[in-house]
Amino acid sequence: SEMIYRVKRCLACLAVENCSVSVSRSMASKTQVGFIGLGNMGNPMAKNLIKHGYPVIASDVFPESCKELQELGAQILDTPADVADKADRIITMLPSSPNVMDVYTGPNGILKKVKKGSLLIDSSTIDPAVSKEMAIAAEKMGAVFMDAPVSGGVGAATSGKLTFMVGGAEEEFTAAKELLSCMGANVVYCGQVGTGQAAKICNNMLLAIGMIGTAETMNLGISRLGLDPKLLAKILNMSSGRCWSSDTYNPVPGVMEGVPSVNNYQGGFATTLMTKDLGLAQNTATNTKTPVILGSVAHQIYRMMCARGYANKDFSSVFQFLREEEGQ
Ligand code: NAD
Repeated sequence: SEMIYRVKRCLACLAVENCSVSVSRSMASKTQVGFIGLGNMGNPMAKNLIKHGYPVIASDVFPESCKELQELGAQILDTPADVADKADRIITMLPSSPNVMDVYTGPNGILKKVKKGSLLIDSSTIDPAVSKEMAIAAEKMGAVFMDAPVSGGVGAATSGKLTFMVGGAEEEFTAAKELLSCMGANVVYCGQVGTGQAAKICNNMLLAIGMIGTAETMNLGISRLGLDPKLLAKILNMSSGRCWSSDTYNPVPGVMEGVPSVNNYQGGFATTLMTKDLGLAQNTATNTKTPVILGSVAHQIYRMMCARGYANKDFSSVFQFLREEEGQ
């Protein structure tokens, strides 16, 4: 009793109805879903698809990343093109714009073997202009590309509580939501392709500023004013200084369980990725002559951290960075 979902707008001739070319995508809820990029976020996201009963076909340039998923029954293939050959719904979760371009349009990319009518969802945080380019390239092959970056961190990816910000053709949103809601608590349609990225870039600029502010505040309170870290965090979290960085992802080791600060800042969201996101915000601000004063300072701080050995640590290690700067 397989249900077949028909794409309302024909992808081959772009007619909304009465087209001569009939393009269909299998939407039986339990047909294979491709997943490319099994890093800190992709791994728990793909696991949630498996938990919801979707057979997953995955690929990552780093074979070690595929082990856990393989043990859970996922089929692992060598290249994104191989995945596209088998699955007509694919999610990608890659570090940055060049990786996304490679995975979609490179020599072993998805578009080399994509099936007509496929739904391609990119959840990486990248330049919105690149999302638009990928959408055009996908459309030429008769496939649909949507950007669906996420917020929430590894904790929310694990518990299936991410927020997805989705850009692309509105008539495809229901199809995207079917998959994304297995991994997220909020799936929000933002508008045309690239608008999901736009929302994400804004969120992360505020997150970066908030994390630095939290780290500075906690450091001042603990090391200069003699406050107990847990007590200070508790007060902030019941007061007007409360934010995600203080109550969900506290940067001070020992204040909370299950966050990168208690794990020597391993895992989580790498400083280098936050630096990338702040760079995307800066580019837009420069091009549009928009004042983003704290965003610029945050970008410089994270760039400096990358140069001082923090690139692959979680971005909450800005607390440790400030400690090293103390007294200098
Ligand atoms: P990550 O570096 O841990 O994982 C990326 C994975 O992609 C790696 O396993 C890498 O081997 C793989 N990869 C890279 N190039 C590839 C290619 N050409 N083909 C196949 N696989 C390839 O990164 P992450 O922390 O999982 O983040 C992924 C994206 O999500 C980034 O854009 C990041 O900004 C965004 N994001 C991360 C978080 C977080 O908390 N970590 C939160 C929200 C959004």
